[in-house]
Amino acid sequence: MKRIALEEHFLAPEFEQYWLKTVEDVDPALYGQVLARLNDFGEQRLAAMDTSGIGIAVLSLAGPGVQIERDTATATRMARKANDFLATQMQKSPARYRGFAHLAVQDAKAAADELERCVRDLTFSGAMINGHTNGQYLDHPDTYPLWERAEALGVPLYLHPADPVTPAPALDGHRGLKRATWEWTMETGTHALRIVFSGLFDRFPRAKLALGHLGETLPYQLWRFDSRAKLYGVKLKKRPSDYIRENIVVTTSGMFSFEPIDCALKALGRENVMYSADYPFENPVEAGAFMDELPLDPHVLADISYNNAARLLRIGEPS
Ligand code: ZN
Repeated sequence: MKRIALEEHFLAPEFEQYWLKTVEDVDPALYGQVLARLNDFGEQRLAAMDTSGIGIAVLSLAGPGVQIERDTATATRMARKANDFLATQMQKSPARYRGFAHLAVQDAKAAADELERCVRDLTFSGAMINGHTNGQYLDHPDTYPLWERAEALGVPLYLHPADPVTPAPALDGHRGLKRATWEWTMETGTHALRIVFSGLFDRFPRAKLALGHLGETLPYQLWRFDSRAKLYGVKLKKRPSDYIRENIVVTTSGMFSFEPIDCALKALGRENVMYSADYPFENPVEAGAFMDELPLDPHVLADISYNNAARLLRIGEPS
């Protein structure tokens, strides 16, 4: 069965300047290769998709993009450009590509309008937000217009890892723990928990948040979130684990290992786990082999590979 993958990246012209900051400590020869793959929408990308068993890739801009743009008008203008660029590229292989909008959360009302334009006019499937926007997290009331619109449109917001505002002192002197090893998990898991613990999903009960890396460790911690929320008198209509099960979906991006997917399936339910290869940052051969060899019931595999994403993104429905 051909899979749907939700966290597959590209770069748009003029966005290299934002992206390069995240690879400043990586070997230039390596990032040169990755850059070429990010910029390609043709044979190379389609061949990688075939290798990892992907029929449909939902493409998103490699972060952080305009999430770190200081000028709001520039951020809004650039995000729109990125979305128009992606829409043009998607037309090259319309059966294989879908899109997540890139949004300037600096102006959440404009971002909501841009999301609606992308979904209605460009047939996008939701949006990917690359972490905090200049230090503002997605639990901030200023972001409510965006949540409200995403809920009304019935599309997910996918929260992608990004550098924290300030590096945690606990990581001082441990370059090996930075970014994708652990720092981004701390940052992104915390960001998702801020959203849950803020009561945002009481306000927007049908909103959907997507997380990569099999949930940034959240599925493993459900009991503890519930237990400690009670201890500390957190005021929410439901338990934290209820929101995590009902409002959050997770993908396999960059986590090709059985134990965490087994945990995510058991903790969140088989309807909330989906496939992603995280191309071009992960090896498509490894991503595909992981899915091919997963010791799971074929019906569960079909849900992870295709059915859950098709339902969430309404793929296969007439537009
Ligand atoms: Zn990614």
